[in-house]
Amino acid sequence: MIALDQHPSGRHFLQIPGPSPVPDRILRAMSLPTIDHRGPEFAVLGKRVISGMQQVFQTRHPVVIYAGSGTGAWEAALSNLMSPGDAVLMFETGQFASLWHRIALRLGLKPEFLGVPGTDPATGLPWSWRRPAQPDLIEARLRQDRGHAIRAVCVVHSETSTGTISDIAAVRRAIDAAGHPALLLVDTISGLGCADYRHDEWGVDVAMAGSQKGLMMPPGISFNALSPKAIEASKAATLPRAYWAWDEIVEMNKGGYWPSTPNTNLLYALSEALDMILGQGLAAVFARHQRWGEAVRGAVRAWGLPIQCADASAHSPVLTGVVTPAGIDADALRKLIHERFDLSLGTGLGKVKGRMFRIGHLGDSNDLTLMAALSGVEMGLKLAGVGTAGSGVQAAMDFFASHPQQPALQAAA
Ligand SMILES: *Cc1c(COP(=O)(O)O)cnc(C)c1O
Repeated sequence: MIALDQHPSGRHFLQIPGPSPVPDRILRAMSLPTIDHRGPEFAVLGKRVISGMQQVFQTRHPVVIYAGSGTGAWEAALSNLMSPGDAVLMFETGQFASLWHRIALRLGLKPEFLGVPGTDPATGLPWSWRRPAQPDLIEARLRQDRGHAIRAVCVVHSETSTGTISDIAAVRRAIDAAGHPALLLVDTISGLGCADYRHDEWGVDVAMAGSQKGLMMPPGISFNALSPKAIEASKAATLPRAYWAWDEIVEMNKGGYWPSTPNTNLLYALSEALDMILGQGLAAVFARHQRWGEAVRGAVRAWGLPIQCADASAHSPVLTGVVTPAGIDADALRKLIHERFDLSLGTGLGKVKGRMFRIGHLGDSNDLTLMAALSGVEMGLKLAGVGTAGSGVQAAMDFFASHPQQPALQAAA
């Protein structure tokens, strides 16, 4: 723990795309006493958070809550559904798709990694890390798989390493158009609670989410949303699974309990987060993040810097990736901004390390916290000697002033 007298004054600006800033009322909810996880009050809490999460995932089917991180939710989905050596088709959208691919390898599966080929000559960055998943490529690959060896298609909905949203409904249509029985697995770990996600309507079989991104909570719990087809498939799958096994958890969840000790205080936080998100209404929550994303992208364009996601229809409401000019180390810039202004920005990961940074616009934020964050970035760019085309701060101020938030959107925040 940092010594108290070393704490900078005021609030740290946690502008990374998860963990996101946690609202005070969620932190306070966590300070309630821990209760007996086999006692009668617990069942009320357990049932409440499960039914709330079904609303957030927009599903009528079971949602499994784990004490674990998003990585655990990836492993849970694959280990419940797959058998050793199964082929899975994964789409490379960035670092999180790559890490999920590595989990599949470690579990003894045969993942095939599809991606947009080539390199963008302007930035030298791989196109696959600047674009969303491509339904036409997925459909073409599935059509070749006449023996239906591919067991699942795995797509990251909100690619947190780049700031790109993939069109999950279009991926579903591509699988159906190919007449292929593969399961559809979707990582919406950073998307849920920021970007529209419709589990049942989009025909997703398993979705993964985590607490520390759009749900505005500290890290520590993660989720699998299931479909009836996924539950059926899990009965025949033979990869070993113990802690992550859905069957025991789903059975005990019917009474509001878990087979092992759940993360009681984080479930208080989840209950509070659900009150905030569902109280505001999902449509309002999504609109709020879209508006923040537009403001931040307006700032980046005014600076004259490329946005990591090159496809305007796939820009993320969760975060914006900013590509730095050639010769400017994005991590040195981040370090400078942190030291001077107590502002944390997301690092470039994997293939884009040092070439870009990420501005999160999720969690406990508002127009003025985002203005402060953009001010910190703009000052940092100047100090690092990055010549900008104009003021991003001014562009964002103009945007916020001319695009008032709908009154209903302010109500429950
Ligand atoms: C954060 C994140 C993960 C990993 O979750 P952990 O909680 O760090 O294990 C996976 N996928 C996406 C898209 C993420 O944003």
